[in-house]
Amino acid sequence: MRLSVVIPFYNEQDQVRSTISAVCAVLNGLSHDYELILVDDGSADETWKVILEVSGIIRRDDASEHKGTIRGIGFSRNFGKEAAICAGLHTADCDAAIVMDGDLQHPPEHIPYMVSVWESGEADVVEGVKSSRSNDSMIQRMNAFLFYKLFGKAAGYDLQNASDYKLLDRKVLDEWRRLGEHDTFFRGLSAWLGFRRKTFNFIVPPRNKGKSKWSSEKLFRLSITAMTSFSSLPLQLITLLGLVFLAFSAVLAVQTLIRWFTGTAADGFTTVILLILFTGGAVMISLGLIGIYVSRIFAEVKGRPRYIVSKQTENVSE
Ligand code: UDP
Ligand code: MG
Repeated sequence: MRLSVVIPFYNEQDQVRSTISAVCAVLNGLSHDYELILVDDGSADETWKVILEVSGIIRRDDASEHKGTIRGIGFSRNFGKEAAICAGLHTADCDAAIVMDGDLQHPPEHIPYMVSVWESGEADVVEGVKSSRSNDSMIQRMNAFLFYKLFGKAAGYDLQNASDYKLLDRKVLDEWRRLGEHDTFFRGLSAWLGFRRKTFNFIVPPRNKGKSKWSSEKLFRLSITAMTSFSSLPLQLITLLGLVFLAFSAVLAVQTLIRWFTGTAADGFTTVILLILFTGGAVMISLGLIGIYVSRIFAEVKGRPRYIVSKQTENVSE
């Protein structure tokens, strides 16, 4: 049985080493062959250099017949964590793949449990659920809560507190690889794939080095990708809004006509101006929403690769 552990890194030069040694320490305690796939997501710092260095120093108990290998993949620029996960999963050569963050906020101590659940045949996907978001600010927590609430309503998957810390069985991995979309949302898509799933709770420790690599803009874009690739509900809401408008205008039309015939029509433009402003706003928001879907279709239709690999380490094994 062979495990692949996929870890994305973006500007994590101070973090790579401690993450690798923590993960290897845990994996060395298991009786499995393993490979670490370190994906450098176009870092601007020395992350790639450190990856090259650590790929030579992986240690394994000499008495053990099991092997650990380490492999690095580097992107030509920053394509984002989702793309990095895709690249790792694409090349993983294993019976089960584990995806985790590179900043130890997904504690490796849970790997033995994940593997044991998978080996017992209880589940094909073992996924970590954050039991607290204590490191996030009040606003971040509120945003996440609201987003997942909306996502749950629109897409029908409850991803509240879900994380990317997951183990996927080989057959799930094979299905994942068949997904053709350009912009992926790992959390959502792995739920969409189905299979037998089991969750476990983990506490997210604070980041010890560096800071979060997710800017508000990146997060916002991910949430748009997530929402638009899982639900057309926003578009249907436009139709609903149109219907409400229609009903409203029927009532208003009748009232206006009656007033005109009875000679009590309101003079002045107040109502007209308010109505124009209101409809103008509603129409523009609706067009914008349609625009978001059109641009997503455009991105998919262009069929560009999800990422470009510009460098790879040789397989180093012991
Ligand atoms: N990451 C990445 N590309 C990016 C942003 C982040 O590969 O564009 C990696 C990052 O190096 C880390 C993981 O994704 O290993 C999670 O990122 P981070 O810790 O910044 O996110 P947070 O924990 O704040 O959600
Ligand atoms: Mg983190």
